[in-house]
Amino acid sequence: MDHHQIVIVGGGTAGITVAARLKNADPSLDIAIIEPSEKHYYQPLWTLVGGGMFKPVESGRDEADLIPYGVKWIQDRVDSFSPGANSLFTRGGETIGYDYLIVAPGIQVNWDQVKGLKESVGKDGVCSNYSIDTVASTWKFISELKEGVALFTQPAGAVKCGGAPQKICYLAEDHFRRSGVRKNIEVIFTLAGPRLFAVDKYREVLEKVASRKGVETRFRHNLVEVRAASKEAIYRHMDTNDEIVIKYDMIHVTPPMSAPDFVSQSELAGEGGWVEVDKHSLQHTRFANVFSLGDASSLPTSKTGAAIRKQAPVVVENLLATMKQEPCQASYDGYTSCPVVTGYDSLVLAEFDYSGQPAETFPFDQSRERFSMFLLKKFGLPALYWHGMLRGRV
Ligand code: FAD
Repeated sequence: MDHHQIVIVGGGTAGITVAARLKNADPSLDIAIIEPSEKHYYQPLWTLVGGGMFKPVESGRDEADLIPYGVKWIQDRVDSFSPGANSLFTRGGETIGYDYLIVAPGIQVNWDQVKGLKESVGKDGVCSNYSIDTVASTWKFISELKEGVALFTQPAGAVKCGGAPQKICYLAEDHFRRSGVRKNIEVIFTLAGPRLFAVDKYREVLEKVASRKGVETRFRHNLVEVRAASKEAIYRHMDTNDEIVIKYDMIHVTPPMSAPDFVSQSELAGEGGWVEVDKHSLQHTRFANVFSLGDASSLPTSKTGAAIRKQAPVVVENLLATMKQEPCQASYDGYTSCPVVTGYDSLVLAEFDYSGQPAETFPFDQSRERFSMFLLKKFGLPALYWHGMLRGRV
């Protein structure tokens, strides 16, 4: 049986960031990352790929180049956990033991929970930013549309970056306007939730943005089926359970998401299937040698890479303390950030914490749409990600 002092499940945003920080803190640590993929993607760029500003390939790097020096990469997929025995089992048939475990396999995108979606996405006007394989179709269908209905959806439940479903809607609307076809196109944003954004300060601004742009918002609409042949989106109303049909010419679908099945079926899972950790220390509530962060964790905040930037130092400090049998003193306050792109030259930079209070970085009102914040999203944040965060520097 292979055994490592620290095993990290998932080499995405959280896994690589934590591994880099641990190695920076103590190069002698014996760390392994279990990650099946050859490629690592900076997923926040997919909004801009969908809006035609970048090619899909520009969002990816080779995973091998991101694994920190001295960390072992086990290119396999975890199938199940045995936390009582401090071990886990992989798809490749290996049993791997650990002293400490960090669980960061991200969120699961459930394409098959919307009938007809899996078969149709990427074709006939059906697109989605939520996979490297489909994100190119978003720009294809936005740029090809000259008239008709452009429909955008947001499902019930947690999704990665709660503001992302409306970002692509605003970009599409701006593109239609700039290319002279806006008057021929009805833009509709449907969402299962009751409001556009969770935090009032930003919600109020985004309601005005939608209204100014003439984007029709329909709340409590949960997409359940895409009928590609007749170009119909079928919804269930969240309150009345009524069936609602909307005809579209292009539809951007944000699919339902959940905790990964292999996590929700394990002893590590708590309510909703997420890895059950203390919301401040990020330590597992029942297994003291297990920590979790990022999209797969139970942390009750919006699931973003920006949140992970603040979670990672807390995991590292508390894990190192636990190894020395000291108490966990580092505390995460729920900080998260959602850069809501509102057009090709404007962005509202929402930042807030567990209390739902704004926790803004800059000395100005970030709820105002700004070109400078758009430039930050387009150029600053990707550089910060690849060269700072994934190196454990910021
Ligand atoms: P991921 O980065 O998804 O990594 C999970 C890793 O685990 C993957 O590499 C996967 O291969 C691996 N894995 C999965 N299953 C297993 C298994 N069984 N065994 C081993 N490994 C496994 N965030 C922002 O901060 N700002 C934004 O503007 C923003 N916009 C977004 C727009 C879009 C369209 C999308 C899709 C996301 C956006 N996000 C944004 C969210 C951000 O990308 C995620 O929150 C972040 O990547 C989550 O990091 P993670 O490490 O938890 O999961």
